[in-house]
Amino acid sequence: MDLIPQQSSERPKHYCGVFGVFGNERASQLAYYGLYALQHRGQESAGIVASDSEGNFTFHKGMGLVSRVFNEEALDSLKGDRAIGHTRYSTTGGSHLTNAQPLIVDCARGKIAIGHNGNLTNASALREELEAEGSIFQTTADSEIILHLMARPAPGDNDIIAALKQALNRIEGAYSLTILTDEALIGVRDPLGFRPLSIAKYEGGYVLASETCAFDLIQAEFIRDVEPGEMVIIDKNGLRSIRAFPKQEKEAFCVFEYVYFARPDSVISDRNVYQARVEMGRQLARENPIEADIVAPVPDSGNCAALGYSLESGIPYEMVFVRNHYIGRSFMQPSQLIRDFNVRVKLNLVKDLVKGKRVIIVDDSIVRGTTAKARVNTLKEAGAKEVHVLVSCPPHRHPCVYGIDFPDKNKLMANNYSHQEMCDYLNADSLGYLSEDGMVQSVHRPRSSLCMACYTGKYPVAFDPDLDKEVMERRRNRVHLIS
Ligand code: AMP
Repeated sequence: MDLIPQQSSERPKHYCGVFGVFGNERASQLAYYGLYALQHRGQESAGIVASDSEGNFTFHKGMGLVSRVFNEEALDSLKGDRAIGHTRYSTTGGSHLTNAQPLIVDCARGKIAIGHNGNLTNASALREELEAEGSIFQTTADSEIILHLMARPAPGDNDIIAALKQALNRIEGAYSLTILTDEALIGVRDPLGFRPLSIAKYEGGYVLASETCAFDLIQAEFIRDVEPGEMVIIDKNGLRSIRAFPKQEKEAFCVFEYVYFARPDSVISDRNVYQARVEMGRQLARENPIEADIVAPVPDSGNCAALGYSLESGIPYEMVFVRNHYIGRSFMQPSQLIRDFNVRVKLNLVKDLVKGKRVIIVDDSIVRGTTAKARVNTLKEAGAKEVHVLVSCPPHRHPCVYGIDFPDKNKLMANNYSHQEMCDYLNADSLGYLSEDGMVQSVHRPRSSLCMACYTGKYPVAFDPDLDKEVMERRRNRVHLIS
């Protein structure tokens, strides 16, 4: 059954970066560098939990960028030869320090810390069940549910791996986890493998990271990806792997990682992200031949695909938009003084490159259409003769329930308007998208191994939006009564 959420839930979303290290006296520093490389996966908060062989846990978390959250003093306080780290993605709701990860509990099984990338699709129901049985939640993060489930007695066996397996059997949806226990560092991917997680060796120890670009920074030696449904346990005896779930016929790796989210220098499932994006651009050119003078990316998201388009079509590649790399959070509201400040401050146009020219602009995706509309207008104001908008993936018509921050259906431009209406809205001379087949071919993976729900509406793990809404409503009412 494919169930489509009709409106966005208020559950916090987790599009995050996770990192873990075992067997190095500088574990917290390595985690810090690892998080630096994963900063693109989340800028809202960052945190590291470190521990030693005696089971002493220390942690430091804060709001904002990794470089702002940590200083030498904070890192020095994180002692031990093992650590996990987390960067959290900024969303509209739930932006509090209490939700910053990794989350830690001290329970009958010892101390457990967890970092989670992904979104659980049965979180509301599980949370309600756990609360009814007496669990008191500290955060609104669905990741905390995993800790509560782990803290429960596991039938028959009382070790922590059995407890984790029991927890995993209850949760549904997308998760790549790094977990620190008194004894071990554990990495897990959900049975369909929505989110990435890879393993590397580092000076006799091991490292886990959402993306391989984190290994490059610390010069760790990539070994392989954690497989969907696999649990890797790293302790003083080395690394062992157990299957948390039987191997599934299909996988559901998020294709949008290749399109936009992952860094181009990362390799996922043997496919380099940069090369996949260039191929998307080449394919875009085969599917959408246009007579134009120059092809330009919307930086940085369209860089590789625009290059691919240029290589395939022979149309010169020009960087017509210049990016300002030094923008922090702006507290200034747009005013009469600077119209469209937020749009204009990020990118400025080299006007001389476009005057009188037929210009193709390439971006990786259109969500609400705000970015593309602003770029077309800027180009036309500067005297471009024609502006053609190309997108290196198919139209986004469905929200993501597995962790990507796509708004509800009603806010997705391609869901609300016809092709011609979108083109008119953008004020573009033409609008073209990459086909689903073209996208799949570019990533060199079978279609059956990919989640493409945001394009197709076919959700690999069913999700009941009404149940979710109902539970959220009950929770809201209850909170209201107490306060
Ligand atoms: P919009 O202006 O709403 O159409 O957003 C499109 C722009 O946002 C493109 O430049 C994308 O690269 C970028 N983008 C796409 N998906 C996301 C996402 N989930 N989070 C943040 N930015 C995104």
